[in-house]
Amino acid sequence: MVDLSDVRAWRHHLHAHPETAFEEFETSRFVAEKLRSFGLEVTEGIGGTGVVGVKRGTGGGRTVSFRADMDALDIQEANRFAHASRIRGKMHACGHDGHTAMLLGAARHLAQRDLSGTIQFVFQPAEENEGGGKRMIEDGLFKRFPADAVFGMHTRPGLDIGSFALRSGPSMASFDVFEITIEGKGTHAARPHLGADPIVAAGQIISAVQSIVSRSVDPLDAAVVSITEMKGGASWNVIPDSAVLRGTTRALDQGVRDLIEARLRSVVSSICGGLGCVANIIYDRRYPVLVNTPEWTAACGEVVQRLVGTDRVKKEIPATMGAEDFAFMLQEVPGCYLWIGNGTMERDRILHNPNFDFNDDALPFGIDYWVALAEAVAK
Ligand SMILES: [Zn+2]
Ligand SMILES: [Zn+2]
Repeated sequence: MVDLSDVRAWRHHLHAHPETAFEEFETSRFVAEKLRSFGLEVTEGIGGTGVVGVKRGTGGGRTVSFRADMDALDIQEANRFAHASRIRGKMHACGHDGHTAMLLGAARHLAQRDLSGTIQFVFQPAEENEGGGKRMIEDGLFKRFPADAVFGMHTRPGLDIGSFALRSGPSMASFDVFEITIEGKGTHAARPHLGADPIVAAGQIISAVQSIVSRSVDPLDAAVVSITEMKGGASWNVIPDSAVLRGTTRALDQGVRDLIEARLRSVVSSICGGLGCVANIIYDRRYPVLVNTPEWTAACGEVVQRLVGTDRVKKEIPATMGAEDFAFMLQEVPGCYLWIGNGTMERDRILHNPNFDFNDDALPFGIDYWVALAEAVAK
């Protein structure tokens, strides 16, 4: 039986001491120390602050990797409870404190068990924006710790405690960012014909890129193009030299992702050319589409159904246009990423909100899932 009071205490400790992308020094030290105390082999410093703990099997079984993320967000916590963040401007508002505590709880339990297969407990940095999972892979994660399958889990507000949700195939979107710098020619606002107005070009670009999703992408494919930032000009009567637009694109299919980038470049360049401006486009591909392997998704579905019953497992839930850097791991190794219920979504209790807190009632379900999955697949 898992001692939950310890796991809750670890979760609260992690919540009170949040660290962000690649600066999870204390968090990874905490994780490594716990894994060592359970008797596991521990390797630190993979992809920066990543940690891997290994529970060797007795032989003949599969080798699988279970992954948790450790990073927090640049958010000032609004909660006032005892385990609220003690670090100004940083907060665990995405539940990664819960993910880390649950995987530690499972590691402690599984360390005492005899399994034929080997379990690798992977704790990654910088899931939120900076691709810590990718960094671990570049640092040889799957060469140093080869795996037959890899599994991830994320808390989900709006899904009841004790419930799970999953989906086969493309489940979370690709995530790219872009920055468009429109170079025009500044002039007096009363004599626009003497310059090339980047503000007018920016306005037309904002409207025109909406046609990428509505006119270029197949209506049955999901896609998002959002311009989220605009800068340009500093006065009433001066047409500036340049203007900048920034934004993000999402897709659930690699071909659609390629199409969006090509259309964005073409639309922006054409508009700028027609208006006497020049466009400099930086298009940065961040996270790929997260694709769950059908066989492993079916296996995980069976595990959670045995654990909590068919009624509490949502299979084939709709994909989300949010992104996850676990997608990089699933590009290398087959596996499945699923969601665990964090309780009914109250106002403000959504991810990345200053009032968010991981629901401790979910801890035993998450630990039980990892343990049951180990028993099912590491043999
Ligand atoms: Zn998250
Ligand atoms: Zn997040």
